[in-house]
Amino acid sequence: MKLIILDRDGVINHDSPDFIKSPAEWIPIPGSLEAIARLNQAGYRVVIASNQSGIARELFDMGTLNAIHQKLHTLAQQAGAEIEAIFFCPHSSADNCDCRKPKPGMFAEIAKRYQVSLKGVPTVGDSLRDLQAGFVSGCVPYLVLTGKGEKTHETGGLPPGTMVFPDLAATVDHLLKTPAQG
Ligand SMILES: [Mg+2]
Ligand SMILES: [Zn+2]
Repeated sequence: MKLIILDRDGVINHDSPDFIKSPAEWIPIPGSLEAIARLNQAGYRVVIASNQSGIARELFDMGTLNAIHQKLHTLAQQAGAEIEAIFFCPHSSADNCDCRKPKPGMFAEIAKRYQVSLKGVPTVGDSLRDLQAGFVSGCVPYLVLTGKGEKTHETGGLPPGTMVFPDLAATVDHLLKTPAQG
């Protein structure tokens, strides 16, 4: 099977330093949902792995996160895209959990759920910790320059083999031109 793991904020939707705390604040980056639809058409199963420490910080609750994800699914469907599952970490770094990226817990969870090795599975993020979590899990890291991506690119220290693209749409253009790895 072909699987791809996406970060959410700054990859699929516009990020905010004040967190995405409501469905109204969840605004897709132009072309991102259409890019996911193209992945689906090419046979990719698309899942999200997202740090959502706003829960631990009590900026929003689980009900609100569910409502945000309902909007995400609705807009995705309207674009012909299917996001199969959303894995999220509700903790803050103080909780010292195994799931908050750069820890690989969510990736391990995904591998378990789908009964696959993540070796060669593409993962797309805008923050270093997204790429680190993917890299140690065997994924091929892709950095997008949307969201925090420009800053991440400037700071450097990316995992070896990280490929950089302007946004998710351009990443998908590349992926669909390239034979699947792994
Ligand atoms: Mg992000
Ligand atoms: Zn966690």
